[in-house]
Amino acid sequence: MQEILTSVSLTQAISLVVGLAIFLSWETIQPFFGFFRTPNKDRVRHGALNLVLGAANSLAVALLFASLWLWAAEWAYANDFGLLYWLSRNAEIPVWLHIVMAVLLLDVWTYTWHRLNHRIHFLWRFHRVHHSDRKMDVTTATRFHIGEIIFSSALRIPLILILGVYVWELVLYETIMFAVVQFQHANVAVPPALDRFLRVFIVTPNMHKVHHSRIQVETDSNYSSLLSIWDRLFRSFRMRNDPDNIEFGVDELSAEESGSFAGLLKMPKDGPNDT
Ligand SMILES: [Zn+2]
Repeated sequence: MQEILTSVSLTQAISLVVGLAIFLSWETIQPFFGFFRTPNKDRVRHGALNLVLGAANSLAVALLFASLWLWAAEWAYANDFGLLYWLSRNAEIPVWLHIVMAVLLLDVWTYTWHRLNHRIHFLWRFHRVHHSDRKMDVTTATRFHIGEIIFSSALRIPLILILGVYVWELVLYETIMFAVVQFQHANVAVPPALDRFLRVFIVTPNMHKVHHSRIQVETDSNYSSLLSIWDRLFRSFRMRNDPDNIEFGVDELSAEESGSFAGLLKMPKDGPNDT
């Protein structure tokens, strides 16, 4: 099992780096916003901050949680525990249907968790690190406070047990989901018709831009990560006709707080402008 985990982590790391390379190139050739056109030093500084934060989070997860997730999945497998194991016991489920159900269940949980991060003030204080980015690009996809990563990673243990998903299904979901998350944050000019078509199925850049807006009613929308269906189903879907006028960031935070490693780590602390 340890060997599987190692090859799985390697596959995920490779897909993350490949996604990063593709979107960084696309952002250079065809950016949506011009904020990194000149000077280039700002882009490097901005990207480095987000990527260092992401690398530290990945390391913490690998050290603290990967073996716990594996233990939970092995225990569920050995004991036939969890929703999908229960279903498999009581009905003939083809592999493809098992995968579809696992992806849907994991994705609706991701939606719920994201929405809770906006609704519960304690969680928002961590999640606002992600929203504090004033120049959103592909590196924003890895910009999260370690606190948020620890909470979501810990909750994944009971989630694996309750849902009864296979480890490889979890990895498959995470890999596809993260590729889409990189795409939706990327500062790339997607033809509007293509964005419209793709967002019938997945969360696109123009859909996710609205979620990163400074306007509260827009921030409180478009919580989906992989499939856009959840926002339509739970009535949180919102679009803007002028995505190029959207301003990113969080009003309660200053540019200095949002632009340094120490500022981001201290961000969960309640400040004078907090509501
Ligand atoms: Zn959010």
